[in-house]
Amino acid sequence: NREIHLASRPHGWPTEENFRLVETEVPKPGPGQLLVRNRYMSVDPYMRGRMDDVKSYAPPFRLDAPLDGGAVGEVVASEADGFAPGDVVLHGLGWREYALVEARSARIVDPDLAPVTTYLHVLGMTGLTAYAGLLDVAGMRPGETVFVSAAAGAVGSLVGQIAKLRGAARVIGSAGSPAKVARLAALGFDAAFDYHDGPVRESLKAAAPDGIDVYFDNVGGDHLEAALSAMRTHGRVAVCGMIAQYNDTAPPAAPRNLSLVIGKRLTLRGFLVGDHEALRGEFVREMSGWLREGRVSYDETVVDGIENAPAAFLGLLRGENLGKMLVRL
Ligand code: NDP
Repeated sequence: NREIHLASRPHGWPTEENFRLVETEVPKPGPGQLLVRNRYMSVDPYMRGRMDDVKSYAPPFRLDAPLDGGAVGEVVASEADGFAPGDVVLHGLGWREYALVEARSARIVDPDLAPVTTYLHVLGMTGLTAYAGLLDVAGMRPGETVFVSAAAGAVGSLVGQIAKLRGAARVIGSAGSPAKVARLAALGFDAAFDYHDGPVRESLKAAAPDGIDVYFDNVGGDHLEAALSAMRTHGRVAVCGMIAQYNDTAPPAAPRNLSLVIGKRLTLRGFLVGDHEALRGEFVREMSGWLREGRVSYDETVVDGIENAPAAFLGLLRGENLGKMLVRL
């Protein structure tokens, strides 16, 4: 068994030196446990926050211990009722080839219903984040104009598509390369821009001359500042993530225009997907239908091998992914 440990805590941008590949014995399951051979694991931006030793909504990773995070794999041995070898399970112990999983924290998924990777994104946590954030937190209504940042990523690409399917009049996305911008057009976005091409404020104004009603924020900083400027009266921001500042060592320079929330009577609402479990049933039903009908598309960027999991994570922070970044184990 090979697993990735956190060797040291990054200051600013993480590097490969912050991680260590460690070989261990394959463990044996005790009562109530499963031994799972992981096949895919997720790398996610929130993991950067867990590398710091600070109190937050998710506990910090421990030094010299395996990292963790979403994974799917096959049960190879079971000491728990309801699980048998061959079952495919979704669980929270990624970053290792073999995981000893408490059966109560594993969920059997059906590989005949959808590709197993989709339980790590479009049908899983990232999909629910997009769905709950757009419809529940921002309360998007038909006819509105929606802007989403990191729009070619896992969450953002779904936000844009869900907005269109739920009747948004106009959907605008920003992303970090011409290829990503082209992909957004193919996904049905009405307008998209590369945020490297000029000030976000100007690009957004050109794409949404009449303003926006909803901003789904994945980035923070100058994106949030631009969105506040573009907001119509009573606009809403679902504050999902601020990836532009996850590696910052100094406070961010933007947004500098927060006082606009007063005159425009804006709502900025932060949220965590874990608080929206009540929506999961409705979300899975609606999203499965859209996937079956070919009305939602998704991209995956797959990196091979546990030894390359740190590189996959670093690549995610640098924007090397189109859609969901995954590691095949
Ligand atoms: P993505 O698939 O969107 O990957 C991250 C993307 O962020 C990169 O591909 C990159 O794309 C973009 N990015 C990185 N740095 C910058 C920057 N400085 N400015 C603009 N864009 C940047 O990841 P996820 O879909 O998993 O997550 C998206 C966001 O949602 C993150 O902020 C994450 O923290 C948040 N999140 C929040 C949850 C919650 O419960 N609140 C749950 C899940 C995710 P590009 O090439 O376009 O720069």
